[in-house]
Amino acid sequence: MQTDHTVQERATKIVKILQRATQGMALPAATSIVNEYGRDPYLILVSCILSLRTKDSVSWPASRRLFFYAKTPSQMIALPAETIQKAIYPCGFYRQKTAQILELSADLLARFGGKVPDNEKDLLSLKGVGRKTANLVLGVAFEIPAICVDVHVHRISNRLGLVQTKTVEETEEALKKVLPQNLWIEYNRLIVIWGQNVCVPQSPFCSTCAIATACPRIGVTRSR
Ligand code: SF4
Repeated sequence: MQTDHTVQERATKIVKILQRATQGMALPAATSIVNEYGRDPYLILVSCILSLRTKDSVSWPASRRLFFYAKTPSQMIALPAETIQKAIYPCGFYRQKTAQILELSADLLARFGGKVPDNEKDLLSLKGVGRKTANLVLGVAFEIPAICVDVHVHRISNRLGLVQTKTVEETEEALKKVLPQNLWIEYNRLIVIWGQNVCVPQSPFCSTCAIATACPRIGVTRSR
């Protein structure tokens, strides 16, 4: 049985190895947004909506096409829906996402003076914004410690044995106990990259994985 202290040490070691091993790999969409536009909460929020159920390799170029037309809520609501749909296609659910972005932008103008709120309660009050999006915006845009748990983070944290959980909500709570707070944002960034390139959902690349010696591969039945 591992103690919390042992798990914390292992989690910290994994982060350190991944910081080196992920260099040169494709960046998560949120990191690309920050590199290109800075820590703009509105652009990070919109890009996060575009990335839901869509690969970063599709959502990132779609974000850039959309932000060519509009970078603020007031610019966004001035756009015809067809322009937004055309810009973000082929993101999954592009029609619904267009409606959501327009509604969200109007809501930000009506309730928050056009600014994205910097707290979880208000973020979660925006239509279509769940914990994953709220935590990503808090962490990436405002640098407020938050753990964004998506499918990659949930899957890999369990394979690594850092948590033993069934849902993303449970994973978020469990990770808060085993990760030092200063690593919460970084852990998400690194694990998302690892999940897209190495620890993929089906048949992960365990034979060449940089963190294999620190990974019990829990639940992995097939690997390369
Ligand atoms: S050893 Fe395999 S299961 Fe563990 S992190 Fe690496 S790729 Fe994923």
